[in-house]
Amino acid sequence: MKKIRVRFAPSPTGPLHIGGVRTALYNYLFARKNNGTMILRVEDTDQARFVEGAENYIIESLQWCGIEFDESVTIGGPHAPYRQSERKELYKQYSDQLITSGNAYYAFDIPDELEQNRKEAEAGKKIFTYNAESRKNLRNSLTLSKQEVEKLLQEEVPHVVRFLIPEHTEVVMHDIIRGKVVVQTESLDDKVLFKSDGMPTYHLANIVDDHLMEISHVIRGEEWLPSLPLHILLYQAFGWEAPEFAHLPLLLKPDGNGKLSKRDGDRLGFPVFPIDWIDPLSGEKSSGYKESGYYPDAFVNMLALLGWNPGTEQEIFSMDELIEAFSLDRVGKSGSKFDPEKTKWFNHQYLIKKSDEAVAEEFNQILHAKNIQIADEKLVKIMSLVKERVQFVKDLWNETYFFFEAPQSYDEQVVKKRWNEQSAEQMKSLANLLATIEPFEAPIIDQAIKAWLEENQFGMGAIMNALRLLLVGAAKGPHLGDIMEITGKEETILRIKNGIERI
Ligand code: GLU
Repeated sequence: MKKIRVRFAPSPTGPLHIGGVRTALYNYLFARKNNGTMILRVEDTDQARFVEGAENYIIESLQWCGIEFDESVTIGGPHAPYRQSERKELYKQYSDQLITSGNAYYAFDIPDELEQNRKEAEAGKKIFTYNAESRKNLRNSLTLSKQEVEKLLQEEVPHVVRFLIPEHTEVVMHDIIRGKVVVQTESLDDKVLFKSDGMPTYHLANIVDDHLMEISHVIRGEEWLPSLPLHILLYQAFGWEAPEFAHLPLLLKPDGNGKLSKRDGDRLGFPVFPIDWIDPLSGEKSSGYKESGYYPDAFVNMLALLGWNPGTEQEIFSMDELIEAFSLDRVGKSGSKFDPEKTKWFNHQYLIKKSDEAVAEEFNQILHAKNIQIADEKLVKIMSLVKERVQFVKDLWNETYFFFEAPQSYDEQVVKKRWNEQSAEQMKSLANLLATIEPFEAPIIDQAIKAWLEENQFGMGAIMNALRLLLVGAAKGPHLGDIMEITGKEETILRIKNGIERI
């Protein structure tokens, strides 16, 4: 069997959005599953769209996700360099080869003239395309004499090389996900392969590199499907065997209306980038999943299931499990709606799966930043009480602040509902009871309060709600016995006394 070699081939024209990460992920899973090789190739031939910092951003993002490469711009490999701008010299010969074989031609049209053609077509509600029809009336090596062409080339008149789309031909393609696709060449235009700036276009460089790098499977986004006929024709023109293709369905906005795009930034209320991105020109920041508090394995797990399904009910997959389960024939044809709530759900699942110790260690960093010291065992205990209640470690403070400091204020709604004329007296009496409890541990405290409630014929709900208000400042938090044990006897009594005065 042919050796499996796949590549992720981003253009550094900006940050990588989550759809791009998913493409990289599926390539990675496919490579690992099939003992293949995963390659990172940077496609930076479009100098006009180059964005400073984008390449680094892409590398860092994929690293954070745990998507690893065997050959890349940083690791190197048998087909180095892996950055197309550094392979610049290599492409011209292939462009020349196509000219010689009659599959491509020189075009000397002045950009302004082409623009004029475009405008005229538009005015007539038509679209101008450089094709079998129009090429006959334009300035190219098909219409000019051989001598004229030689002269223009010698004088280094700016020109491009265009692919000569064969006429009246049916291009038959096979896509692993979409099946057979047929296109008539009448619908295609003579794309530029080589630009006047001496750089190949994406189409030429992509095909040449996929061939030279011995790529066996091209797995990429569906937005490249319209380019597939041209790519297939290019392989045929070179006389090369084409790789297999799999075009992944789009990631859609949560409402299903259109594709999730880079421009969505934070506009929809959730990040579309793996890590924070600061635009080098505007300085504008778009937030990332990493900095928003997501675990990389939860993020990757979520992405894997956006377009692929394991064929079972299982939802939680480690990277190794994904590799084991992954196959391209379980990738769907239709777009997948991105679901920000489900993404949070995944993070919650990963958080509660962690040990209390591990979550405590993460939360401790937040406490350190607040200058709060706490004994490890105490923090671990707190985590065991509250970790089920949050989706992110950063949300733990809101569920635990009362373990570290007395309430600053008392929720007015709760005061209105839970505090009445008898409350102050009852709480004073309860404070006296608490003072006698030894050791001050949850089960013993619970026991004593229960007996005291019965003895005084007090309603459990009313008393405990008022007490919670004094200790927490709001109607939330875990079991009160646990809160009191961790807070300690002295502090508990102090909070009751202060609270009575302040409310
Ligand atoms: N450079 C292209 C991109 O930015 C790669 C497309 C492909 O994988 O062929 O998406």
